[in-house]
Amino acid sequence: VTTTGKPDISREKSAELFEKAKTYFPGGVNSPVRAFKSVYGTPLFIQKGDGCHVWDADGNQFVDFCCSWGPLILGHNNAKVREKVIEVMQHGMSFGAPTALENDLAELILKNNKFIEKIRFVSSGTEAVMSAIRLARGYTKRDKILKFEGCYHGHVDALLVKAGSGLVTFGETSSAGIPKAFADETIVVSLNDRDALKKAFEEFKDQIAAVIIEPIPANNGLLLQEKEFLQFIREICTENKTLLIFDEVISGFRISFEGAAGYYQIKPDIITYGKIIGGGMPVGAYGASKEIMSNISPEGAVYQAGTLSGNPVAMGAGIAQLSELLRLGFYRDLNNKTEEFVASIQRFATARNYKFKVFSVGSIFWFAFTDLEHVRKAEEIDPTSMEKFKLMHRELLNRGIYLGPSGYEVGFISSAHTKVELEKAKRAIFESLDLVFR
Ligand code: PLP
Repeated sequence: VTTTGKPDISREKSAELFEKAKTYFPGGVNSPVRAFKSVYGTPLFIQKGDGCHVWDADGNQFVDFCCSWGPLILGHNNAKVREKVIEVMQHGMSFGAPTALENDLAELILKNNKFIEKIRFVSSGTEAVMSAIRLARGYTKRDKILKFEGCYHGHVDALLVKAGSGLVTFGETSSAGIPKAFADETIVVSLNDRDALKKAFEEFKDQIAAVIIEPIPANNGLLLQEKEFLQFIREICTENKTLLIFDEVISGFRISFEGAAGYYQIKPDIITYGKIIGGGMPVGAYGASKEIMSNISPEGAVYQAGTLSGNPVAMGAGIAQLSELLRLGFYRDLNNKTEEFVASIQRFATARNYKFKVFSVGSIFWFAFTDLEHVRKAEEIDPTSMEKFKLMHRELLNRGIYLGPSGYEVGFISSAHTKVELEKAKRAIFESLDLVFR
């Protein structure tokens, strides 16, 4: 029974499917967050999606703000993407040989992104990051990498590390199965902390191959950085001949076609992509200058390969989706819509004195149960506030709103979220906030 005394929506079929799934998969899922460990109830098994909606196995309909964790910037089952995929599939699904579709997607990206000159397609964000790091190490002939606490870069061994105590620390592994020797090559510092960064470069002079950052950190809340801090990272990397990697798996093609690099007008040395680039298919990519990319095999000595890299079906989906993003006014309309949505939720919460902030950039938003004007570091998030998110998540599901099942996750708005549906969503959010804070 919920806060209002009303029963929850039915999750009977989802619960049944989850019981079965638990016999097949560890924890019943193929990616951990899907198990709903941080929120109430059984995970919803999704049956279909269309536009801004998804339907679960029990027939419940939701306005979806998870959007497959970011890829679906045009919403679910977009006709253009679907038709292109069907067209490509009629000629076969994979050849392991070059196809013109790879050229087409690369051209679409490179012609409209001044920050990279060459690109390599892979099949996930993790793979993109892993390859970018190898490239940076091969190029600089150095071993250490520096990451920021609160940034997530996929399940790459060397990056599944968290900060220890102290200003500049070697990572402590945040997963079993990672040799300490790997974590020892990773330096972890806080976001928004210039002193820590300076100290790291002093302590490990001429040893740091790359600094990797999500320029818009969106995996541990939305920890928006000041442009000056990103600029500072750019400068300190240049001074030390260290490569700067922007992990734009979320922000790429989301904040603008040129991602966060374009948004902040800061040029990193390597950029990684994923999610949106594949139109909902498994695609990742990394790109850099011609000079840096010439180090990749078979041109250079850094090995990187993939059976399904540049897969035609996935390339087709990417081409169809990115072509839509290049239409005049696409980002302006999407971002304006998000801004209105977010501002009106914030006005509601502020008028009622709720300890609640909505942080947002472009079409990404994060609901934070905090008083702080800015949250720029992982350490500034109060873990106990997640109890409130948990309550809110349940009330929202009961009102037909689907958010990712963790208070540390951000929400996404797609071009398929209509004003009418956003109005409905707002009302559900207002009701849920009133319940959480009563
Ligand atoms: N980098 C960032 C910034 C991400 O958000 C993610 C996934 O959420 C990844 C890398 C890993 O991508 P994938 O899940 O496709 O392996």
